[in-house]
Amino acid sequence: MKSFLTNLECTYCGVELSADEPHRTCPDCGKVLYPRYDLQAAGKALDREDLKNRPANMWRYFELMPVRDEANVVTLGEGFTPIFKAERLGADIGCPTLYIKDEGINPTGSFKARGLGAAVSKALELGITRLTMPSAGNAAGAMTAYAAKAGMEAYVFMPKDAPEANRVEVEITGANLELVDGFITDAGRISGERAAELGLFDVSTLREPYRVEGKKTMGYEIAEQMDWTLPDVILYPTGGGTGIVGMWKAFDEMEAMGWIDGKRPRMFAIQSEGCAPIVRAFNEGTEFAEPWENPDTLAAGIRVPAAIGDYLILQSLRQSNGGAITVSEQEILSDMRAVASLEGMFVCPEGAALSAALRKLLAEGTLSPDESILLLNTGSGLKYLDMIR
Ligand SMILES: *Cc1c(COP(=O)(O)O)cnc(C)c1O
Ligand SMILES: [Zn+2]
Repeated sequence: MKSFLTNLECTYCGVELSADEPHRTCPDCGKVLYPRYDLQAAGKALDREDLKNRPANMWRYFELMPVRDEANVVTLGEGFTPIFKAERLGADIGCPTLYIKDEGINPTGSFKARGLGAAVSKALELGITRLTMPSAGNAAGAMTAYAAKAGMEAYVFMPKDAPEANRVEVEITGANLELVDGFITDAGRISGERAAELGLFDVSTLREPYRVEGKKTMGYEIAEQMDWTLPDVILYPTGGGTGIVGMWKAFDEMEAMGWIDGKRPRMFAIQSEGCAPIVRAFNEGTEFAEPWENPDTLAAGIRVPAAIGDYLILQSLRQSNGGAITVSEQEILSDMRAVASLEGMFVCPEGAALSAALRKLLAEGTLSPDESILLLNTGSGLKYLDMIR
């Protein structure tokens, strides 16, 4: 198989760079770089039907993935997660056409496996051998798992109050874990300093160009699994926003290849009342989001006070006629029980935030019961036992 990767392009100033040497953010403006593909050629070479016989993981879209040589793919089987019709939860909420895509069954128990699977594979291809990242949750365990599989050295900088599972899963891989007395932003600063000192490559989300390519495969899968249509609405628990902008990128790529039409789901970013920079920026109509002071929520994956891809998230919400809304900690805990008792799915707090938000969006009339709605449960609740207790 052949990847149709062409180059990197800055999402803000448009500068083009090689995808065959290491890059992180745009050297000119500091914003997010995206890998680009020859979509015309890819659309000619690959038919939707060709996918049918491919392995049930995210590398089934190899032509649209950033790794050139298949030998560099580091996989633990991530992706191609099932989409369930959530009939009992849908009846409870008052939304008959409700779907949940369950990312909790990914390797390492969250959809971070997609992004880090892609980033570690591309790092291997580029000859990078030592990785670092700050993480307050699931990203670290995913990074160190794929680094272990690839035989790379890994460093992680984590706030002291991260969920216990996230600390243990990093330690068990033998990675270097440093607990930081502070927030994810402090961990990020220290990770950056160590990267400079020790020559490590920092794979913080959207500060390197390839994690988004793993997460975009959720968009490809939703289309493929729904027979090349898309739901009317997608709700996404938004931290760094890599998944939401990744799906948005996937929809554009698929349309350029002639796989789907121009109709897009309305995209909704869901955040916690204790950390809602994107919701605030959406409501204020600004291009970027101001950092959130004192972020606080048990949903560690969305406890992200500042996102470098804020403008990309906000663009996708606005272009899709979507929106942004917060939920309380109480609502998150209550919907963890609701989803588990009605659907048998022990969703993560971030996932539970979505069904809590859906209740509100229906009640205020932003969404209507005749729309088809998809919730992305981004991880397993089993990784949060200490937080829930
Ligand atoms: C990281 C994470 C998120 C947020 O993902 P982004 O793409 O950074 O917005 C949501 N849920 C869980 C479980 C996570 O680990
Ligand atoms: Zn730029």
